[in-house]
Amino acid sequence: MLRQFELVERVKSYDPNADEGAINRAYVYAMKMHGSQMRASGDPYFSHPIEVAGILTNYRLDTASIVTALLHDTVEDTGATIEEISELFGLEVGRLVDGVTKLTRIQLQNVEAKQAENFRKLLLAMSEDIRVLLVKLADRLHNMRTLNHISKREKRKSIALETMEIYAPLAERLGMQDIKSELEDLAFAELHPEARASVLARLRFLERGGGDLVGRIMDELDQTIQAADMNGYVSGREKLPYSIWCKMQTQDVSFEQLSDIMAFRIMVDDPADCYRALGIIHAAYRTVPGRFKDYISTPKRNGYQSIHTSVIGPAKLRIEVQIRTHTMHEVAELGVAAHWRYKGDLGDVAGSQYSWLRELLEILEHAQSPEEFLEHTKLEMFQDQIFCFTPKGELIALPKGGGPVDFAYAVHTEIGDTCVGAKVNGRIVPLRIKLQTGDQVEIVCSEAQKPSPEWEGFVVTGKARAHIRRRVRLEAHDEYAKLGKEILSKLFSKEGYDVTDDGLDAACKKLDLHDRSDIYAGIGDGQLMARQVLEAVYPGAKADSEANVVNISKARRSNFGDEENAIPIKGLTPGLSVHLSECCHPLPGDRIVGILQAGKGVDVHTIDCESLISLDDEPDQWLDIIWDAKKTGEMLLGRVNLIVLNEPGSLGGLSTAIAENMGNISNLRIVNRSNDFFEMALDIEVTSVKHLTNIIAALRASPVINSVERARG
Ligand code: MN
Repeated sequence: MLRQFELVERVKSYDPNADEGAINRAYVYAMKMHGSQMRASGDPYFSHPIEVAGILTNYRLDTASIVTALLHDTVEDTGATIEEISELFGLEVGRLVDGVTKLTRIQLQNVEAKQAENFRKLLLAMSEDIRVLLVKLADRLHNMRTLNHISKREKRKSIALETMEIYAPLAERLGMQDIKSELEDLAFAELHPEARASVLARLRFLERGGGDLVGRIMDELDQTIQAADMNGYVSGREKLPYSIWCKMQTQDVSFEQLSDIMAFRIMVDDPADCYRALGIIHAAYRTVPGRFKDYISTPKRNGYQSIHTSVIGPAKLRIEVQIRTHTMHEVAELGVAAHWRYKGDLGDVAGSQYSWLRELLEILEHAQSPEEFLEHTKLEMFQDQIFCFTPKGELIALPKGGGPVDFAYAVHTEIGDTCVGAKVNGRIVPLRIKLQTGDQVEIVCSEAQKPSPEWEGFVVTGKARAHIRRRVRLEAHDEYAKLGKEILSKLFSKEGYDVTDDGLDAACKKLDLHDRSDIYAGIGDGQLMARQVLEAVYPGAKADSEANVVNISKARRSNFGDEENAIPIKGLTPGLSVHLSECCHPLPGDRIVGILQAGKGVDVHTIDCESLISLDDEPDQWLDIIWDAKKTGEMLLGRVNLIVLNEPGSLGGLSTAIAENMGNISNLRIVNRSNDFFEMALDIEVTSVKHLTNIIAALRASPVINSVERARG
């Protein structure tokens, strides 16, 4: 176990200004808080935070990160609180420890490959400070190094899987190649021990035959470089079993010789030397075509720079050589931490203490190829996203402002289409609420449900909006078609003709329509006259305009409501084919007339609505309709005008009279007010004209009400 003074010395070696006192206090505090707790290995628990801090010294992190590493499990596993830590170690450390604690608390259940991407984003979104993530990675690395002490196989497996899917890729995105490789190999050992053992056995076999092959090749490369008067440092190593395994998988080959799994590196002083060294190597050995990559002129998007080439090298073995400067090497090894370090060296203290963080975020932002991790998404945009869970623990990412309907469509189109309600964290909520990161969302579905046009007003995802529009359009087409079919068959039978499929199919061609349902829908939404269709089916048939159902003169208005020819209206869903007009508020029981509005469907008016007068000259728009007797019980708006005495309690009397008659006031507007009277307009939810009449009668009986009558358009 790393000792207190050793930790301090390590930090001081790269940061002479480190706050030694703070590290010592954190050490003592964590040791006291963890007390006699034990790790699964039997070591004192405290050995864990110390080792985590030790890992971070390899990345030369600042005092706050080291202190955070020492304290990272105190809130989760001991009686310590964020408040106490902030008081003892300052707000910065408090904030960092809080961040690490939150990451620890996320239950990463159900980690599947398709979910991993979202989990990685979640971790990034929650790590407002990149140091939180660095501490978490070091924490995971130490836990993986000691994984074999956990006795439950299931638990080991799930930790290893999580490491493989979430943490190793995160380390890679942060440019921390060594952490990434080690995490992967440790996870590999747990997940596929036989595969790893076979790779190791093959390695040992080849080593027995080859002796210290790595050392010999290194020596020869070194001599080649020196002979050309070049100042360079050569290193070489075997790759880890997991990366060998991956190579075998992706290239579908076994490894024949050790050189397949060795990596050699030449480090030089400046970028120009890299190209010189490359020239020396290529002059000395034959190159393997197609293996040359120049990541110096075109760095990888996570900042990695190096030249890669393959040659038939010493001992006629094919080897890969990487050439880079010492600085490039440091960036490759330290990842984002190197960036922070160089920022510090450049004396960039003018900005806030977080300026380095912004820089890092910028790297991350530009760091990845499109199909990978950061995709089209900027890191700040993660702050514009929310992450919610299904009851099974699946993670769903939504744009900020997304609600249950967006969530439902994100899970599955069918779930969106049949969504009737939602529970968030176990409580029933309205569909229009906005979800928060961490919410667990359960969608309640019903086969009878259809997407409501109103949803479009509050969804934020394109997917939800597109599906709602599509479904509403289909729905409207359906309703228009039903209505149009009624209109058409009424006209045909009145004129003594039969409606036949063949006849209509022929009419489709003439009218340039796709199929019969388009004829019906066209009539229903007023784009097409039923009479046109009659003439198309039976050329020469002239519908007598006087007898035409849809052609009603002013004089005949009193004949409206002729049950035999009237079309029952259905489908009162707002936004669809039939609309109750706002001017006269027709109610079941009223005699009504429909006005076909091209492209919008049918407006329903009461027969005495004043707005109809202006339509007397447009007989083709008129449609004889009646209420569909099967459709009752729906609450509709009735409007009344009344004059109420201006005295105490009069409004109370008014609302009592309405409530006693099962009415519900939905709007109340005072039109005029004098010393003695209120003149007002009331909107009341009722089921029929009879219901409204009852309420009006009750209001008339009230002594505080001077007059009351139904409002007329
Ligand atoms: Mn820990």
